[in-house]
This record gives sequence, C-alpha cells and structure tokens, in this order.
Amino acid sequence: MQACSCPRCGAPIPLTLASIDEVRCRSCRFEGPPPLEAQQRLRSAHRELEQLDARAAQFDAAARRAIGRALRARWRVLFVLVVGALPFLALGVFGVVAAAQHDGPVANRVTGASFFWVPSVIYATVGSVLYATVGAARHELLVACSAVPPVRPGEPASCALCGAALVWCGVDPIVRCQHCGSDSVVHPRSMAVASALRGIDLDALTFRVHGRSEFIVAAARRATRGTLAAVFGTPVSAFGSTLGLLLFAKVVEPVLAFAPSELDRYAWVATKKGHCVGLITRSGEQTRAYFGDNDRLPNPTTIPADDAAGLKLFSLKVLLGRRMRLSDGTEGVVQGLTGAPVTNREQLVLDGGEHGDAAGACAASERE
Ligand SMILES: [Zn+2]
Ligand SMILES: [Zn+2]
Repeated sequence: MQACSCPRCGAPIPLTLASIDEVRCRSCRFEGPPPLEAQQRLRSAHRELEQLDARAAQFDAAARRAIGRALRARWRVLFVLVVGALPFLALGVFGVVAAAQHDGPVANRVTGASFFWVPSVIYATVGSVLYATVGAARHELLVACSAVPPVRPGEPASCALCGAALVWCGVDPIVRCQHCGSDSVVHPRSMAVASALRGIDLDALTFRVHGRSEFIVAAARRATRGTLAAVFGTPVSAFGSTLGLLLFAKVVEPVLAFAPSELDRYAWVATKKGHCVGLITRSGEQTRAYFGDNDRLPNPTTIPADDAAGLKLFSLKVLLGRRMRLSDGTEGVVQGLTGAPVTNREQLVLDGGEHGDAAGACAASERE
C-alpha cells in the first residue's frame, strides 16, 4: 500500500508515516484524517517501524562505498574498453590493407580481410554483454537505495521507508531521514532510475529494512565482478578466440579448398635435406626462405645475397604432377593445390589424398 484516496475528491494521496493522523490532498487541498483503513495500516506500520533498529536501515561503510561507485558515471569502464579495442581494430585495418596489397584471387583477399575483423567482432560482443551486466547491477543497487522521487519537481524527495520528506543539504547524496533514521540516496541519477517508485510500501516495511543493506552490497559485488570481467576478460577472450580461429582456419582451409595464389613466390632452395620448396620473402637487402611446418629445416633460412639474385621464383602450379615429399615424410605425386588466405600456408594435395604445407615440401627423387 502506497497511497490512499482523498476522502473528499478521490485523488490519490501518498502516505507517510511522518503524519499518521493527517493527510493533505494536492488536488482539492483537503486537510484531515485519512480514510479509516489507511489509518489502521499506517498505525500498524508505525508500530513495526518503532520496533526496528534504526541502524539496520542505515548504510554501513561497504554499502556507502558501493553507492558512491554506482553513482559515478560508468564512462571509466567504457573508456578502458574502448582503449582495449584499439589493437584489435588496428589488426582489422591491417587485414584490409594487407588484402588490398595482396595479388591473390579476390575471394581469398576478401576471406583473409574479413578474418582479421573476427577479433574486433568478438571483442565488441563480449565487451557490450559484460558492460550491460555492470549497468544492470548498478541499476538494481540504485533502485534499492534510492529515496522516493518527488511527485512534482522542486518538492523534496521522501524517505523510502516511512515517506517523510527528506531534507537534503550539502554534498553527500546519502540522506538520513529525520523521522525514522533510515538512509536513502537523493541524487539525480538514483532519482532517475527509481522514478517508478511512487511511494512507500507499508506492506513490505520489515523486508525493506532487513534486505536492503545486504542487497546493496551484493549488487555492488556483482557490479565489481562485471567490471573486472569486462576490463580484463574482454581482451583475453578476443585474443584467445583469435588464436582458436587461427588453429581452426588451419584445419578448415584445406577442406574449403581456396584457389591457390598465382604469385611467383616460391623457389627451390638447396638444403641438407635436398631441394626443398621455400616461400621467399624479400625485405630490403635480405632474402629469406620459409619452410612452413618443416622443423627439420632452419626456419626461416636467410639466402646469401649472391644466391638470392639467381633464385627463380615460381607459383605452385609448376609442382603439379611432380613427385614430392611432405614435411611429415609422406611421398606422392602432387595432384592438387589449395590456397590459404588466412594462414598463408598453401597446401599440396598428393595422389594418395594426403596434404601438407607447400613450403617445406621437398623433391622426392632426392633422398635424405
Ligand atoms: Zn482531494
Ligand atoms: Zn524515514
């Protein structure tokens, strides 16, 4: 029960335990005793209130800290989340630039570029879910501790427990009721979230007093956990899922059978294991050969400048029909090639169905 009807005009009058015998109607300016039923409810609630220890309705240090945190704007969490997103966004931009500069088939370039955006998407999803969790916990907390907002702007807020008008003087948003001694929060932010609160609840007085402090501390704990999870968990989950996706891509790329790049970027490199296919990269003066997952070859191998000039680069097509030995030792005739827009590990498919990295595969005619 939160209000009674005006005995004269029937308009709702908010009840307060601060004046049991007299109500004042805003509509018709009636002043006098409330209806009998409301009077009885008020009296029994008043007795209940007298038996309560006022300290139970006051906020302890932990609750005060929690309320202070909830009242502060959440922009700090948001700021940390946005800053944490920057590396992932940079990765996405890098993917687009790399795809634009790459000369492979368009489908490969689009697949590769979109893959680089996966971490950002995961980051945004996890981050916004956790951020919303923090918001929900703080909202519950503020609703639980807020004073009853004034019916008309400019009027005082009223005590959430007894309905008496609260005198707010000064800076502290937590105001102690002069009638019943309980604490309520008077602050624009808490007033805004508690706007659904229309009056005191005479039926749930004891419940409100005893549950309130524990509820506030519990909601504060949920908010803190949510904040920590958002700030630390979001980057970790985005990074972890990126690693997982890379491993996943390594498995699915051969199955999806992208077209291989047409670029001349491989060369035969003489190694102690024979003539092996190296993926050649040049940066400045330096020429390097990469041998994929072949860990028996020095990876990467720097090619001496004299030899680098004589390297004849080719695309994987020239290997079709040749007998090759994969890094795991399997031998066979190359029957197919698959591109790898994400991991950049193009595959040789042998006549026996086995496949392995093209880089690091060696000519099979030359034994170890
Ligand atoms: Zn009236
Ligand atoms: Zn009060």
